[in-house]
Amino acid sequence: MSKTAISWQVVAQEGEARVGLLQTRRALIETPVFMPVGTAGTVKGTRFEALEAPELDARIILGNTYHLWLRPGVDVIRACGGLHRFIGWERALLTDSGGFQVWSLGALRKLREEGVEFRSHVDGSARFLSPEVSMEVQAALGSDIVMAFDECAPGEAAHEVARASMELTARWAARSRARFDELQREGADTGRTPEHHLSVNGEQALFGIVQGAAHADLRLESLARTVEIGFAGYAIGGLSVGEEKPVMYDTIELLAPRMPKERPRYLMGVGTPEDLLAGVARGVDMFDCVLPTRDGRNGRAYTSLGPVNIKNTRWTTDTCPLDEECACSVCRRHTRAYLRHLYNAGEMLASILLTHHNLAFFLDTMRRVRQAIRSGNFARFQREFIERYNSGVG
Ligand SMILES: [Zn+2]
Repeated sequence: MSKTAISWQVVAQEGEARVGLLQTRRALIETPVFMPVGTAGTVKGTRFEALEAPELDARIILGNTYHLWLRPGVDVIRACGGLHRFIGWERALLTDSGGFQVWSLGALRKLREEGVEFRSHVDGSARFLSPEVSMEVQAALGSDIVMAFDECAPGEAAHEVARASMELTARWAARSRARFDELQREGADTGRTPEHHLSVNGEQALFGIVQGAAHADLRLESLARTVEIGFAGYAIGGLSVGEEKPVMYDTIELLAPRMPKERPRYLMGVGTPEDLLAGVARGVDMFDCVLPTRDGRNGRAYTSLGPVNIKNTRWTTDTCPLDEECACSVCRRHTRAYLRHLYNAGEMLASILLTHHNLAFFLDTMRRVRQAIRSGNFARFQREFIERYNSGVG
């Protein structure tokens, strides 16, 4: 059998929920997996040693093509040997296509068949991003998993608008695939690894993205057209962009079980701990979200008894850890009172400690999810987790 960029194998299943082994050229990743977001080449507030240590043990993190392309720029990263070497991270990296960030610019962008024109938020310069440019940037970054360049429609987009957007995404997916394959042949990928020591061929893997907003017929058509082009994995995009929660869950429920069973399924940009469990229950394998890091910097902690706002005066002399059930180094050492003091004093350690705990909570929750699926207890685990999480005692 010829080697591929990634290999993927389901090792346990309960209902739609599955545990899988994802071998990339740099890391063996157990799924369902939560991928911390490293927007500009850093998971904000966290050292790479902490991400690698057993306490977090993140095997894969995200980089944002849009941000890295604008600053420091592709030339800098290529000259420094690719993103892995540039940032000092040997494990797996997934880069998004930049499509979502450009979409977030809203009125500041101009959309054409060819691609998107916009002004850089860094220096105001005119920029042009297309499927070809996105593939070129991601090859220069040398990430292990590359995302196709897509167009995201707003969650409440009318059918006609969502159809046009979904069709554009399908055409861009085909262009992404074609340019990606060329770049692999040309050797443009800076992250290439020797293929002799792994079951994979050392190349980048390309994932396709399903769009179609909240319209079931468009979602299914998008899925069919994306699968027809053929990708190493498939992602659900355009969720958590302003639609209601039930719409998001319905869309995942519609799509995930119909996505190719032998490929990893990735739900982009989602979400809260409850969303992760809901995604897993519907058959999703990979997640990323800025919540644990961004909320950590804003004084919000995730715990087994629900979110905790560390700014609250009720913690002024509270000598308990953030989460009694959390075994992380922050919870073993520090009290809520101290964390609240750090936050109020504007100490950078507040962000660092809250971010660490939040990442530990998300990553540990996924470890427990995998364990529950392996032992056939996931349905009960989900029920009990949500019950406690919503008890409001935190
Ligand atoms: Zn903790």
